[in-house]
Amino acid sequence: MQFSRSNRRKLARLVGDGQEQYPHSLQFYLQPPTESISLAEFESLAVDRLRLLKVVENLGVTYVKGTENYNKKLEVELRKLKFPFKALTEDDHDARRKDHISHFILRLAYCQSEDLRRWFIQQEMDLFRYRFNQLSVQLTERFLEYANLAYDALTARSLPVVQTDERLQPLLSHLSHAYVGPDYSLQKSTGKISLGQIDALSVKSFPPCMRQLHKALRDNHHLRHGGRMQYGLFLKGIGLTLEQALQFWKSEFIRGKVDADKFDKGYAYSIRHSYGKEGKRTDYTPFSCMKIILSNPPGQGDYHGCPFRHSDPELLKQKLQSYKVSPTGISQILDLVKGMHYQLACQKYFALTHDVDDTGFSLNHPNQYFAESQQLLNGAKEIKKEQRQSENSQPKYGSQKNTNISTTPAPLDTTEGMELDGLEDYFAED
Ligand code: SF4
Repeated sequence: MQFSRSNRRKLARLVGDGQEQYPHSLQFYLQPPTESISLAEFESLAVDRLRLLKVVENLGVTYVKGTENYNKKLEVELRKLKFPFKALTEDDHDARRKDHISHFILRLAYCQSEDLRRWFIQQEMDLFRYRFNQLSVQLTERFLEYANLAYDALTARSLPVVQTDERLQPLLSHLSHAYVGPDYSLQKSTGKISLGQIDALSVKSFPPCMRQLHKALRDNHHLRHGGRMQYGLFLKGIGLTLEQALQFWKSEFIRGKVDADKFDKGYAYSIRHSYGKEGKRTDYTPFSCMKIILSNPPGQGDYHGCPFRHSDPELLKQKLQSYKVSPTGISQILDLVKGMHYQLACQKYFALTHDVDDTGFSLNHPNQYFAESQQLLNGAKEIKKEQRQSENSQPKYGSQKNTNISTTPAPLDTTEGMELDGLEDYFAED
């Protein structure tokens, strides 16, 4: 964003230096930050703001904006993430600095396409509106005087400069696809699922993206490489061992056009590779929703992707009807899809198909969907089992919520793209 010289002078008069840099808890983000920060801080500030904006999005479709519940929950989140949370009393320089710098980092990450820009502006507007409404009359006047500045261009113009920085560009590109939840490559549940359970699980506990892939695999005895990558890594994340995965894919493929010999020579290697047993021995991570939604859109004959993002609305409606979602539920889901809230549409699908009013979690990952579903469906059974276990025993996969989901964010994996390039080579055969 560029500002005219007179605006800058006016801003400098109002803002001053040093401690006066952030005169208000509420900011209009008129000047980009100029201080040097470490890459680690850059990443951590970005992750926290992304978390905050995702909460803003979630609250915005769950509660009427500006109501007591909405305000309370947003304040809790601001407080937790150490952003300025109450303009009237709070006067924390670090929180204001964090608010300022993190806004500009995400602005860079989210100015790269129209879809991303719209999402970012919507969440920032809602956040701003909430904060503005917290101001007293006096502070409102002061803020309006401070913010009454015209500006003449948008952040995207800064991109050519940023794009020449080889440290920042991968991070910024990755941020807009970033996933901030637990790492599902940890496979705490490895070996706890039998192949015979998969058909039933695909109906009751798989998110629609994986349910669709499973059905296509069963119907066609084949999946193209985008589908094999998305579904194969998901299955690994829910606990299939390498031996089970080899057996699962082979038994299905040899029912189609691939004979056993071709499978062993071509596809088996790629499966071992995805489990880190070949090549660079990288233990590949299952795809997050953001990755599925934003990259590698499906083409003709593909079944990967996110049905809420990539299906024609009429087809999505038919699919939801076949999944026995009620007409009211379908129209609620389609409204969310229309507003481009794809993960929230999926959350609504979860609530409707599990018969709960509120999912109680914010969906970021297909494996999270599975874990939450299993916890809900088997929760009572697991709790009883745990009561019988000794104090030293490890928690079951189905009880992960308290130990894993919604806890410390995993660091952004900026090498993900590079690693997957390698994997795609091995999965390239159709
Ligand atoms: Fe899958 Fe995520 Fe889309 Fe749900 S929102 S269908 S879990 S990609």
